[in-house]
Amino acid sequence: LDLRNEDLKELQELGQGNGGSVKKVEHVPTGKIMAKKIVLIDAKPSVRKQILRELQIMHDCHCDYIISFYGAFLSDPNICMCIEYMDKGSLDGIYKKIGPIDIDVVGKVALAVLEGLTYLYDVHRIIHRDIKPSNILANSKGQIKICDFGVSGELINSIADTFVGTSTYMSPERIQGAQYTVKSDVWSLGISLIELALGRFPFSEDDSDDSDLSDLEDFEGTLSPQRPGSLSGMPLPPARKKEKKPKNGETSKKDKRKSKGVSLQGSGMTMSILELLQHIVNEPAPRLTPEGRFPKEAEEFIDSCLFKDPEERVTPKELLKHSWIDRARTDTIDLEAWTSTF
Ligand code: ADP
Ligand code: MG
Repeated sequence: LDLRNEDLKELQELGQGNGGSVKKVEHVPTGKIMAKKIVLIDAKPSVRKQILRELQIMHDCHCDYIISFYGAFLSDPNICMCIEYMDKGSLDGIYKKIGPIDIDVVGKVALAVLEGLTYLYDVHRIIHRDIKPSNILANSKGQIKICDFGVSGELINSIADTFVGTSTYMSPERIQGAQYTVKSDVWSLGISLIELALGRFPFSEDDSDDSDLSDLEDFEGTLSPQRPGSLSGMPLPPARKKEKKPKNGETSKKDKRKSKGVSLQGSGMTMSILELLQHIVNEPAPRLTPEGRFPKEAEEFIDSCLFKDPEERVTPKELLKHSWIDRARTDTIDLEAWTSTF
């Protein structure tokens, strides 16, 4: 399929990410509906062409748990990628709409992501590098697939130069500047699964205050000038206690936002981005809590994704043998019916 921008009719904006946007489009000559991802790349023409070449690997990715790729082209100053359109969107959007996701569905998500990661690594030696709920998509057939994996080294470099993504799903070893491995993806999966099961980002407070998500959005924006890995060796400030009684009146949500902090579960602390990264490195990993609310097997699975030492953490392929994943595999829960509820 030879894709040209002129043949794509824009139907709807699907979302905005770091350094780009995603639109629902129709490929008019064939009538095919696609998602067009537009990435602004500040790089030389030779580098853009190299990225385009590298993206072609995606034509060879055929797996039920990976978004299909239709093609990519340059549209100065952007690179456009046309990928499979998933009509139920990403899992972050889904839980923000319907609340915490049933743990049995979360089990199916874990299974799908592990299958996808194992395929990418075993067949193509690709490490995903950006597992998070917004990169896990669902459709009304009840399929769950991952997208936005690191196929192109040049693309990773170019985006890193202008913007580092949501580092909050980043593993402790990555924050400390170690190389990416498939085990870093396992950490990000663990954080993502807690987020889906609880219906909120695990590094945020469990109270009636609804400002956490907007705090988080602000705070992600403050990350922009950093390069991944550049934080290693950087002295991190100590976490500061949230003042209980500010001198001039009550703490309004606006004040909280202005501080660009993120609340930490149950601790009464507000953190800046550096403090959060320090927290991930130095403090115990989050867990699927409260204890006893979820099946033991699920708790234990999440714990094994979140071993802080990458030596202890196992690979996606090994995790596929976990008893909770076995159970998810044989679970007859109807995901098609589930997706019809929202
Ligand atoms: P991010 O993943 O950081 O949110 P992206 O630019 O990758 O940023 O995507 C923006 C949004 O577009 C996602 O959050 C998702 O909801 C939506 N989206 C991305 N790809 C697709 C797709 N293939 N089908 C449907 N929606 C998509
Ligand atoms: Mg994405």
